[in-house]
Amino acid sequence: MKSEMSRCPGCGVTLPDQRLTPHDRYHASGECWLLYGELSAYNLSRGDPNFTHQLAVDAYGAQHSGPETAAITTAFALIGLCLAVEHGFTGRHVQKAHMGLARHRRPWPRLERSNQAWTYTVGDVLRAAPGDRRDAMLRTWAQDVWSGWAAHHGWVGDVCTQWLRNA
Ligand SMILES: [Zn+2]
Repeated sequence: MKSEMSRCPGCGVTLPDQRLTPHDRYHASGECWLLYGELSAYNLSRGDPNFTHQLAVDAYGAQHSGPETAAITTAFALIGLCLAVEHGFTGRHVQKAHMGLARHRRPWPRLERSNQAWTYTVGDVLRAAPGDRRDAMLRTWAQDVWSGWAAHHGWVGDVCTQWLRNA
């Protein structure tokens, strides 16, 4: 008998159904969130001075934005991706930018994306061999997620440019 599959509402990855509860702040199946936890554990175990983990946080956040997600979470994920992909920031520098931006309390707009399919998921990153290959796949995933939000590149780009000017 074929085991039942569950489909993540955010990234669309299909995984064996473990009857896990969907995430309460991300538009993600419990099964997908478990994979993300695996990637986080891998990234955090490496003592990476560039803090590549941040790129995974932002790619996952932007890919799993839904009605249950706080506006600031999606905005910060996209700002992080813009700084990393367009401006070559390391995760460490993105983290600093997030902390700086969080001090400017402003209402963050609710950014939404039309429901197009994604090319890559966290599962693709985990399937790549640990080390350089996985890092490269993580970057490919993050770039693809950033491209998927093209409709909001204008607003996000402006926030990033302002931040770079004042930093
Ligand atoms: Zn997912």
